[in-house]
Formats: sequence, structure tokens, C-alpha cells
Amino acid sequence: MKLLKDRIRSEGRALNEDILKVDSFINHQVDMELMNAIGKDIADHFRDKKVTKVVTIESSGIPPAAMVAMSLGVPLVILKKQGSKVLNEDMIQTVVTSFTKGNTYELSLCTRFISESDHVLFVDDFLANGEAATGTVRLLRQLHATIAGIGILIEKSFMPGRSKLEDAGFEVYSLARIKRLEKGVIEFLDD
Ligand code: 5GP
Repeated sequence: MKLLKDRIRSEGRALNEDILKVDSFINHQVDMELMNAIGKDIADHFRDKKVTKVVTIESSGIPPAAMVAMSLGVPLVILKKQGSKVLNEDMIQTVVTSFTKGNTYELSLCTRFISESDHVLFVDDFLANGEAATGTVRLLRQLHATIAGIGILIEKSFMPGRSKLEDAGFEVYSLARIKRLEKGVIEFLDD
């Protein structure tokens, strides 16, 4: 998606070979016009997949995923990163390794919001090792939902996330695919 790639070129900051900062339009300040365009693009791509719910992970996935859900006219379900301290029989959990923080966290989903009749589109800001996406898939499979596809804003194509997900049989649609990062350098796959 040219709009997103242009914005990454002008405002993205490669901190090193692994991390891209997009704080001024995705992760800290959010450009809602851009999110709207992204939401329509991802929704259009998966429009014939009979999506019934969009699922994302708090917090950076929420703005783009909300716009996808709005465009498809379906609810948005937000996976929580903190395990609830209150005993809650409705919650299922899985452990995920955080790419940016290097620690593990629990991803939680309330079983009342996903059922076996759901066709779920997972949307997230970044795809790196695919930990967040595969953790989400584990939870959705536990509830026997169908995974309609995976929509990603920024894919770090030099990392194994996409191949893990494709090997598991999922369609991955990424709006910007990055071939290489280096301090101050951002190269896209199709440059
Ligand atoms: P994965 O689970 O695929 O290894 O990593 C994806 C998650 O880590 C995303 O939800 C995103 O929040 C975070 N992430 C991974 N790489 C980056 C990055 O380069 N920049 C930022 N801002 N977040 C990232």
C-alpha cells in the first residue's frame, strides 16, 4: 500500500536491524485518516471471506483493526495482554513471547465472544516472529473458530512470521513488506 509505505519512508525510524519505530502515526500518535484507508484496504481484500469478527491484540492493533471491523460491519474482539486477577471461568489464556520487550505475557480471550460459527480475521500492526499471531490462532482454535485470514500493516519479511503462518495454511495479507532494516535505513521487498 503506497500510502503506508510513503509514510514509513518519511516518518519511520529504523533503530537497528530489528526494530522499526512508527510512533508518530501508528504506535503512539495515531493518524486516523491513514487507519481509515488501511481499514478499507484490508477489509476489501478479505470481503468475500464471510468474516464475522475481527480480532486484534491490545493496544497498537486496536485502531487499524477497529477500522477494518467498521468497514466489514462486524464486531471487534480485543485480546487482553494481562491475565485477569479475578477468577473468570469464561477466560482462556496462552503464553506469548513479546518481540519488542523480550519477555513473555499471557494473551486472554473471553469465550463468550468467539464461537465455532465465527470466521475470524486477525489484524495486527507488525508481524515479526509470528508469536502474537500464532498465540491468537491457538486461542481461536480452542474455540473451534475458522480463521479467515491475517491482515498486517507492517511485515518484517526478513523474519519467520509469514512462513510460519503460511506453513500452517493461513493467508497473510501485509500492506508494507520490509526486506531489510539498519540504523537509519528501511528497504521494502518490492523497491
Ligand atoms: P511477533 O509476535 O510477530 O514476533 O511480533 C509482533 C508484535 O510485536 C506486534 O504486535 C508488535 O506490537 C510488536 N513488534 C514487532 N516488531 C516490531 C517493530 O519493529 N516495531 C514495533 N513498534 N513493534 C513491533
